[in-house]
This record gives sequence, C-alpha cells and structure tokens, in this order.
Amino acid sequence: MYDIIIVGAGPAGLTAAIYARRASKKVLVLEAKTYGGQIINTLDIENYPVEAHISGFDFATKLYNQVKDLGAEIIYEKVVDIKDNHETKEVITTKNKYAAKALILATGSENRKLGIENENELIGKGVSYCATCDGAFYKKKNVAVVGGGNTALEDALYLTDIVNKVYLIHRRDEFRGAESTLNQLKDKENMEFIYNSNVTKLNANDKLESIEITNKDGSKRIIEVEGLFIAVGRIPENENFGKLVKLDNSGYIIAGENCNTNVRGIFVAGDNRTKEVRQLVTATSDGAIAATEAIKFINNEITY
Ligand code: NAP
Repeated sequence: MYDIIIVGAGPAGLTAAIYARRASKKVLVLEAKTYGGQIINTLDIENYPVEAHISGFDFATKLYNQVKDLGAEIIYEKVVDIKDNHETKEVITTKNKYAAKALILATGSENRKLGIENENELIGKGVSYCATCDGAFYKKKNVAVVGGGNTALEDALYLTDIVNKVYLIHRRDEFRGAESTLNQLKDKENMEFIYNSNVTKLNANDKLESIEITNKDGSKRIIEVEGLFIAVGRIPENENFGKLVKLDNSGYIIAGENCNTNVRGIFVAGDNRTKEVRQLVTATSDGAIAATEAIKFINNEITY
C-alpha cells in the first residue's frame, strides 16, 4: 500500500512527488508514456524562474532525477481504471493493481486533432503536432501551420527561420495568441496569413503533397506544402476519470486553487484541471499544492 499514487510524470506529477517524498510518504508515480509530459518537446524554456534558457528535455530530466534521488518509485504503465474504496484508492493499470491512501491525477493534456481524413496516417509523413520537434525536417520547404493561439503563432515564427515559406491558416480573422508574436510574424517576408479558413483535405501520395483549404464563403484553394503543423489546442487526458471525479464541459477536472476534486482523497494537478493559466510554472505549483493537500488528508488534517 502506497501513501500517495501520482498518475502522470509531467512537471505537475513529478513536483508532487518531490513534496510527498520530502514529507516521507511512500510514493508511486505511474506514467503511460515517458517522463516530462509535453514540456519535453519544448526547445527552449524562457519563462521559468532562475533558468533564463533551458531545453524541455533538460528540465524534465533534471526533475526526473531529483524525484528518483528522493526515493519515489516510477513505473511505466497506463492507468485504465480507478476505484474509490473510500479508505483506499485502487489504481488499475494495463498490467497491475496498486492501492494508496490518496491519489493525485496529473495526466496533463494531449494534442487536439483536426479530425480530417488521413490525419493519423500522415503523422510523420508531413503531419506534425510539434514544430520544434519536426521543423528541421522541412528546411527550405513550404509548410502550413493551422491554429490561432500562442502555440500556432510561436510555431509559425519558429518555422519562418527554417523553411522556405509558412502559411498560417486560422478559422477566424482574429488571433487569440499574443499580439507581440503576431507583430513579429507580420515582419517576416516568408509568411502568408490565411484567415477564415479550415483545412478540409490532405492530398498525399505516401507523403503529404498539398492541402485543400475552404474559406467561410465556400471557396476552396489548394496549397502545395510538404508539412502541416497542427496547433489547434489540447484536450485534457481525463478519459478514464469521468466516472470518478467531476469534469467540466470541456473535460477538465473541476478543482480550485487547492487542487481538491469533489472526491475525498483525490487531488488534481496541472493542465488537466480547470484553471486560467496553463504554464510550466503553474503546473509545478499545482504539484506542490496537491501533494501538500494529499499529505494533510493522509494525516487527517483536512476536515470536509
Ligand atoms: P489555444 O489557445 O486553445 O488555441 C487553439 C487555437 O486553435 C484557437 O485559435 C482555435 O480557434 C483553434 N482551433 C481549435 N479547434 C480548431 C479546429 N478544429 N480547427 C481549426 N482551428 C481550431 O491552444 P494553444 O495555442 O495550444 O495554447 C494552449 C494554452 O497554452 C493557452 O493558454 C496558451 O496561451 C498557452 N501557451 C502559452 C505560450 C507562452 O506563453 N509562450 C506558448 C504556447 C501556449 P479559435 O480562436 O477560433 O477558437
């Protein structure tokens, strides 16, 4: 029996593990993929206190080593179900069952897809969700970015320095991403903005060759690109938790700044909870809070 099981080894989950281990709790971290979560794909982190520049990989690896050195167990298994037996929480993975007094759900979020034909089949053959990971494959080629948030703007800006031409396709005529990034993009000679349009077709012959975009007025255009970077937001990875804790309409676990869910002894940390600002620093902050709350719960210091 563990004191605390943490589901997810991203910045929120690993920070929770640090706090729980420093309180001498027996901790298991379960991770379905690899440690680090989405930050591992970030080329350069510039907005985390103290380090002016650090790669996502280095950040995640340092954090992982810190957690291992503190004595947390980390097992790579996908959680498929959780049962709340009140005094204990049972966590079922594809391979095993584990029990704990308290749980922290820190599963983060995954890329939202466009949902068009061939999108999945063309991943790695022209379709990508990570410009900093895959941009270098498109040196001097034409690519498109789809989306209107900070990720799409930053991806487009990053790609303008690598590729021949970047088309930025957005479904509206206003971006929700930062104006400062947009202004930098407007200064780039190899940028073309395409507004009020959706990508409606991927044309490929083994690899992506062109995309069809459809304007709100119904007109269509074919653009020859070898790469399509899809940056249309993220979806919380809470699909196994809907029966356990309350989710909002977008699938985020409902919790306030104290990271308590509606279920006693189950806490949430990071991008998969309802919150205003989803950043690395707020994910680690959540990890600290969720662990502190879980420790108080185990020590009978929370009165519900
Ligand atoms: P986001 O802010 O949710 O933006 C998603 C964009 O994709 C929106 O412009 C949306 O259009 C569009 N979209 C959604 N579904 C679509 C679909 N099916 N087809 C076409 N377009 C679609 O996502 P994000 O850019 O990944 O950012 C996520 C969070 O991380 C945000 O809070 C963001 O500020 C933050 N972030 C911060 C930084 C930074 O601080 N440096 C960098 C990256 C991300 P509409 O606008 O029409 O809804």
